[in-house]
Amino acid sequence: MTVPTGTTVTTVTTDLTGSCLIGGAAVRGTHGEVSGVNPVTGETLAPSYGLVGIDEVDHAAELAWTAFASYRKTSPAARAAFLETIADNIAALGSALTDRVIAETGLPLPRVLGETGRTVGQLRLFAAVLREGNFHGARIDAAQPDRTPLPRPDIRLQSIALGPVAVFGASNFPLAFSVAGGDTASALAAGCPVIVKAHSAHPGTSELIGGAIRAAVVHHDLPEGVFSLLYGSGAVVGTALVTHPRIKAVGFTGSRGGGLALVTAAANRPEPIPVYAEMSSINPVFVLPGALAHNAAGLGEQWVASVVTGTGQLCTSPGLVFVPEGPAGQAFTAAATAAVQKLSATPMLTAGIRDAFDRGATRFREHAGVRNLTDRVSDSALVVGAAPQLFATDAAIFLADPALQEEVFGPASLVVTVRDTAQMVQILAGLEGQLTVTLHTDADEPGCAELLDAAELRAGRVLFNGWPTGVEVVSAMVHGGPFPATSNAQGTSVGTLAIDRFLRPVSYQNVPAALLSEALQDDNPLGIVRQHNGQFARE
Ligand code: NAP
Repeated sequence: MTVPTGTTVTTVTTDLTGSCLIGGAAVRGTHGEVSGVNPVTGETLAPSYGLVGIDEVDHAAELAWTAFASYRKTSPAARAAFLETIADNIAALGSALTDRVIAETGLPLPRVLGETGRTVGQLRLFAAVLREGNFHGARIDAAQPDRTPLPRPDIRLQSIALGPVAVFGASNFPLAFSVAGGDTASALAAGCPVIVKAHSAHPGTSELIGGAIRAAVVHHDLPEGVFSLLYGSGAVVGTALVTHPRIKAVGFTGSRGGGLALVTAAANRPEPIPVYAEMSSINPVFVLPGALAHNAAGLGEQWVASVVTGTGQLCTSPGLVFVPEGPAGQAFTAAATAAVQKLSATPMLTAGIRDAFDRGATRFREHAGVRNLTDRVSDSALVVGAAPQLFATDAAIFLADPALQEEVFGPASLVVTVRDTAQMVQILAGLEGQLTVTLHTDADEPGCAELLDAAELRAGRVLFNGWPTGVEVVSAMVHGGPFPATSNAQGTSVGTLAIDRFLRPVSYQNVPAALLSEALQDDNPLGIVRQHNGQFARE
């Protein structure tokens, strides 16, 4: 095996080198190159990034495994301070980061600033989670030496880190779901070293963020293998990471095909591992008759505003809306059509994503049972742009063609007219799993409870009288859901519960007091809430 060598990286820098970070070393890969491309101008952005091969994956994985032995034992307070330094370092990148994100993604400044704030905020939130201590899941069932017929042993439980985690940066959130995004923040918080496979759509952004994490590793004197950043192809580097025996879990956001390939690779390992893949969701919205009667035109305009947010490149974009047939439904559709005609094309992230969008929209346009409410295609003034497009059909045609449920990633959406609320319930029960289901309703409309019942079985988040785009990073958030929204509906990739994906519970039976971790010691030195003989208490 060739062991990669390179310059040692110790400080936050805004200079871009085109190198990977393998532990502490900046290493330029020699298996091809990739460059960022400005989707607005088509300009190729320097520097080019050298792609690594499986030797470098192996080296990063071995470093991560070595680091795991001590990193998992760091105190929660030490990991909290580490995450806060990463946050500070990212915030300090300022316009160097903002300018690079805009150049590589075409995202507007307010969105980039908002996403920077969210990324920094997520890291600080996980620092707070570590200090608060619930993530330990500590439980103590004291011994009952006098129990008959047999005495009960002392049994204590805590959750521990899984091991090194591979994270696949998402194209559509270059900060909040990428190198230092929610998957990385929650894995590092759990005590797991992280190896990120950078997304080729924003390599410079990835290097800047990687440098901020690396500088924090040095600042806190952590083992170098706690963090590595690799540029490489999914087929080679991605697969090698997921199948590497030192990797114990995977976080992914992207396409259904990519996510399923990783799930299959992980399941076929001699030691299968969990893959938390967020993949495909069309986020259906159900507008009930009472809500429609009050505000048909306003809701139609709100639908369009949600569809075009982020040029539709959000996992929570509402790709499907159900309205009752009749005049109010027609008013909803007419208002939406009028609103969308006023909008121009906006940039998409990459030529590949735009081409996939065009193919999806063409599928709708050429469908015999689907009406095209907008007559526009991509705007030629932008190198990689897309104009919003709306389509309409009825329940019978929708139910007859499962292909109408497939995600069209971008600013397109389909409105389906239905007979009544009972038919909405029937359709919802037959939909694929979703990140979100939204209901617009008056409080006590008939059928509302039945829709909520069906919605909670199909989605990770159920919203009333809002729009699914926009995800709060809070303790009660679930950004997950049944397949194909994710590959594992038991987790979330947003919010504090995300840490649980990278932990596993261990029971300790009759372990001598001197060997117990602080979370399980009798005098509770961390001062955390524990379940003690069935009662939650800070004692
Ligand atoms: P992607 O093609 O799934 O790629 C995401 C990451 O996974 C990339 O790093 C990619 O590496 C890697 N990858 C893809 N296929 C792989 C495989 N078979 N084995 C190993 N690694 C693999 O997603 P994308 O580039 O972000 O966007 C493409 C499409 O994904 C979009 O058009 C959209 O349909 C969908 N998407 C959906 C969401 C959502 O939230 N629902 C978000 C983003 C994208 P390479 O680049 O080297 O292939």
